[in-house]
Amino acid sequence: MTSRRPVLAGNWKMNGNLQLAQELVAKFSSELDSDAVEVVLCPPAVFLANVKQLLEQNAAALAGTRIGVGGQNASALDGGAHTGEIAASMLASVGCDYVILGHSERRAMYGDTTVSVAEKFAKAIANGLIPILCVGESESERQQGNTFDVIAADLEKVVETNGKRAFDNAIIAYEPLWAIGTGNSATPEQAQEVHAFIRAHLAKISDSDANAVRILYGGSVTPDNAVELFAQADVDGGLIGGASLDADKFINLCQMAVSAK
Ligand code: PEP
Repeated sequence: MTSRRPVLAGNWKMNGNLQLAQELVAKFSSELDSDAVEVVLCPPAVFLANVKQLLEQNAAALAGTRIGVGGQNASALDGGAHTGEIAASMLASVGCDYVILGHSERRAMYGDTTVSVAEKFAKAIANGLIPILCVGESESERQQGNTFDVIAADLEKVVETNGKRAFDNAIIAYEPLWAIGTGNSATPEQAQEVHAFIRAHLAKISDSDANAVRILYGGSVTPDNAVELFAQADVDGGLIGGASLDADKFINLCQMAVSAK
């Protein structure tokens, strides 16, 4: 029995609307009756304040659950002339508790690097946000046997930039690039192997309690494959893309995360 509370984070990416938020809140109110899973809703930034407000307005119906709000990205800077960017302090000011950092789509299309993600991590921590640090290998990196090296480099840079206790209040999401949005999830064994590596490596390079750090799996998780993935010893829930846009599937996954542990 693990003492790590599972986390189910829904990354809407550039999808969804307030109607989805309303549907989710209605479903959480009637169908989720547990605080044994930490749920994180990560809508596009323009909806964050509304989603937060919706959760607050429905606090009575949601009593006994743990549902927070997270950004999908934050700047490595505090503010200034950076059109289109959002500072970690701004996310905190509208009620975010979490922020996804280093998602592979941000790395592939919007210039995030191992260095900039570690800097963003610093801003998240400084503003009281829990970073959800995404790490993962591409298909060719896996084929070349470099999976662990790629992931280790990200973890090490975060520790180098943020100190040995960087992971005291952070979440890691293992997201193999080849599994994101492809319908081709990692097998439970593949996920467990990498999650165990991440935990062992954290124990080596940091002073945070590696055994307490939640490590989520992300990549084509659906209600059809989640039970086995979430049951793995070092898998502490999921970062969910596509299936987080379907209220029935997302609630189902939340319930699976609760019963898996
Ligand atoms: C993601 O984008 O973080 C993700 C895991 O997407 P999907 O679940 O759609 O593969």
